[in-house]
Amino acid sequence: MVKPAEGGGSGESRPRVGVLALQGDFARHAAALEACGAHAVRVTRPEHLEGLEALVLPGGESTTMLRLIEANGLRAPLEAFLAVRPVLGTCAGVILLGRGGAGLPAPPFGVLDADVERNAWGRQIDSFSAPVEAPALGAPVEGVFIRAPRIRAAGAGVDPVARLAESGEVVGIRAGRVVGLCFHPELTDDLRFHRWFLEEVAGLGAPSAAPAQAEVA
Ligand code: GLN
Repeated sequence: MVKPAEGGGSGESRPRVGVLALQGDFARHAAALEACGAHAVRVTRPEHLEGLEALVLPGGESTTMLRLIEANGLRAPLEAFLAVRPVLGTCAGVILLGRGGAGLPAPPFGVLDADVERNAWGRQIDSFSAPVEAPALGAPVEGVFIRAPRIRAAGAGVDPVARLAESGEVVGIRAGRVVGLCFHPELTDDLRFHRWFLEEVAGLGAPSAAPAQAEVA
């Protein structure tokens, strides 16, 4: 069972937000969360999930991440966490949250009712950056797509939250407190997606300014 978050108990008032740190660009997510005023906690073992308000699944390699999740005993604890707490998955992270994902060594978590196709834009050389429209954020953001997945289909309870400006293709989805993006908001200096996730999706208030010193557990 996931223990209820109780604010840390050590005088720490910032919300504790986890980043799955088994592989991939978790450090950039942690820095973005800290810049938004959250306390970023690197998650590599089940006990690290205790007391977290929300979780980020970073980009990287979904096959490797799934293997390490199994090897580190994180499968069941993550399932329990994802069933009740807000989560943001980016790139490989949305593959882990969705359904499908052919070629994976274990099933993805399926908390987003969406068929997510891995490496669906082509090879590494076909990676690109393009304007993404996200009505919740106002002006478009720059989306960085690196061997990115595509959302091929989504269930009725899944809402689009981001689209490629040029084609209108959906590249970000939300089902309640679960958000999946095909691109990497953590690779730009634009914090709007992280802020929106923390404040609007996770309901963590407005942590606002960055602390003087970045502190990553
Ligand atoms: N191609 C990777 C995968 O299948 C995802 C790439 C990324 O996260 N940038 O997991």
